[in-house]
Parts: sequence; C-alpha cells; structure tokens
Amino acid sequence: MLVLGLESSCDDCSAAVVRETPGGPVLLAMTRKSQDELHGPYGGVVPELAAREHLLQLRGVIAGALDKAGLPLSAMDRIAVTQGPGLVGSLLTTFSASKAMAWREGIPWVGVHHLLGHLNAARFAVPDLPFPALALLVSGGHTHLYLARDWSHLELLQKTRDDAAGEAFDKTARMLNLGYPGGPIVDTCARSAERAAAPFTPPKFRDGKAGWSFSGLKTAVRNRIHGEAGLDAAGVDDPRVRALCRTLQETVASWLLKPVPALRDETGARALIVSGGVACNSELRAQAAALAGKLGLVLAIPEPRFCTDNGAMIAAAGAILAPAADPWSRNADPNLPLGA
Ligand code: ATP
Ligand code: FE
Repeated sequence: MLVLGLESSCDDCSAAVVRETPGGPVLLAMTRKSQDELHGPYGGVVPELAAREHLLQLRGVIAGALDKAGLPLSAMDRIAVTQGPGLVGSLLTTFSASKAMAWREGIPWVGVHHLLGHLNAARFAVPDLPFPALALLVSGGHTHLYLARDWSHLELLQKTRDDAAGEAFDKTARMLNLGYPGGPIVDTCARSAERAAAPFTPPKFRDGKAGWSFSGLKTAVRNRIHGEAGLDAAGVDDPRVRALCRTLQETVASWLLKPVPALRDETGARALIVSGGVACNSELRAQAAALAGKLGLVLAIPEPRFCTDNGAMIAAAGAILAPAADPWSRNADPNLPLGA
C-alpha cells in the first residue's frame, strides 16, 4: 500500500511517500520546509505567519515528495494528514488540501492524531516491537508518557504539569541568546562542554502524584544566567554557557527517564519508545539506551529526521488506521483528543 503523508501542525511543512509492507513502513521520499528563519527573530512560532507560509509552501512540498518518489498522486492508495492537535491555521491548510486531493482523485483519506504520528515514527526503527510498550513522547508542546497497547492505542500514564521539555531547551537558548529553535543548539553546545555546571534540584510535588514540571527548571536557568555577569551575551564558545547547556540536558534526560523502571514493573512493559522532537537529543538517546539495556526493554527511538515533525510519521500512522467513511464532514481540530 502506498500512502502520501502530510504534516503541518506547527511550523514545519512536510510530505512523504511511504510504502507499507508486511515488514513495516518503507520511506520512498520525503520533503520538508522549515520556517526557522521566518520565526527566528521572534524567538518562537508566530501562528498567523506559520499558516500563511504553509499556504505558500504546500504545493511545492507535495509535488517534491511525489517527484522524488517518481510516482503520480493517482498511484497513492491513501492520503494521511494530521488532523490535530496543533495550531489551527497551520493544520487547516494541509487538512483542506488533503481533502481536496482525495476528492479529486477518489483516494481513501485518513485523519491522524499528531501524537499517534510521533508514536508511529518508531515503526521505521523497530517495526516488530513487542507490546505493551512505554511510550515517552517529548516535543515542543508535549511531555507525555503513555502505555502503548499497540501502534494505535495509547493510555496516559503521566505528563508534565506545566511546560513541555522542549520548551526548557527553547527558552534556555533564548535566554542565552543562542538562536532558535533551541534544542539542537543546546545539544551541540552541551556536547562540546568540558565540564558540567552545578546540578539542578528536581521539583517535589506536595500531592505526591506522579508527573513532571519544567517551569521551575526554566526559572532556575534564568536565575543562573542573571547571577553571572555577561552570560546572556557570552555565546556558544563560552565554557560557562557550554557547561550550563550540558547540565540542562543531563537534567532533562534523567528527569524524563526516572519513572520508567517503576512503570515497567507496574505495567509489564516489554519495550520503550522515545519519540518527538526532543528525542533528537543526544543525551536523552544515550541515557534511554543505557536504561533500556539495564531493564531488558527493547528500545525504539526513531532516526532524528523522523523525531521532529514530518510527513513520514503521519503516513506510517495513517497506514494502519481505518480510512474515514465520512472524510468530507471532518475538520481539523486544534485540541483533538486521542481516540476521537
Ligand atoms: P508537538 O509535537 O508537541 O505539537 P512540535 O510539533 O512543535 O510540538 P516537534 O517538532 O515534535 O514539536 O519538536 C520540536 C521540539 O524539539 C522543539 O522544542 C526543539 O527545541 C526540540 N528539539 C529538537 N532537536 C532537539 C535536540 N537535539 N535536543 C533537545 N530538543 C530538541
Ligand atoms: Fe510534533
């Protein structure tokens, strides 16, 4: 089965042609237009600008993926598109285009939950993963740990109470004036650090319930930056900046993985999936590999190009979902719940 996957829930516009085989999904072609330069001066995504840019990019992105695959649109057996959650204007451009193409060509259409997309990115890494699996989905807007019964059913185990982990990276880079998006810059900076900075204290919750919190970490980073003269303008070559980045990502990685051993025992999970943009992080990847090895869990972390938003993950998820019987009455939903 050939699937055209489309994703534009935030600031990346991406299309991919994927062949679903009995051995798992195979990527035939993928295109992606980033809007980093457009949003960079604002230090974050400006929703209206993102939606307008998607309108301009979409045709070229779709045509580019089909051209690279050497296939016409009419050869597709299915069109899969992100239905939500995300920024409504960004979602609507690709969502509306996908319905128009499906209508014109008479191709079955399926709307995909963005997080099922991030989950299914891991099918490219380990298609025959044993279930149940613990699925840590960490990105710019999500820090959620699920129990995955299979590739299309997620039960929430715990999530952040405030900021997403990706925000801790993006805001740190912003406070240090390192650029946007922050994750990759902090990662590069951290890898060249010769030493670590003083450790950060993990948050304690009075109600004793499980969860994460990253807003306090953001404040702790800000206090450190204010406490050292000139640090906010020192740049990536400064050893103090590098040390801070290293400690930040070691902290985030260890906090994210901390609940895994107990939840493995509780749920009988056999595998660990780590996906979403923050799963590109070198320290998180290394710590997850070490932990999975220690606990005897099969580890599935997508290649970095499948971790950040991309059309291939939407195609992979769309390939295993039932096509919608009523596509024309569907609409993009910025708050789409899982299982809708
Ligand atoms: P969501 O999936 O929650 O809707 P999103 O789609 O905007 O959010 P993704 O593209 O999945 O997010 O991930 C983007 C996030 O990943 C950003 O916060 C970015 O800084 C972070 N990120 C990317 N690469 C790295 C890295 N190497 N280390 C840490 N964070 C990273
Ligand atoms: Fe995402």
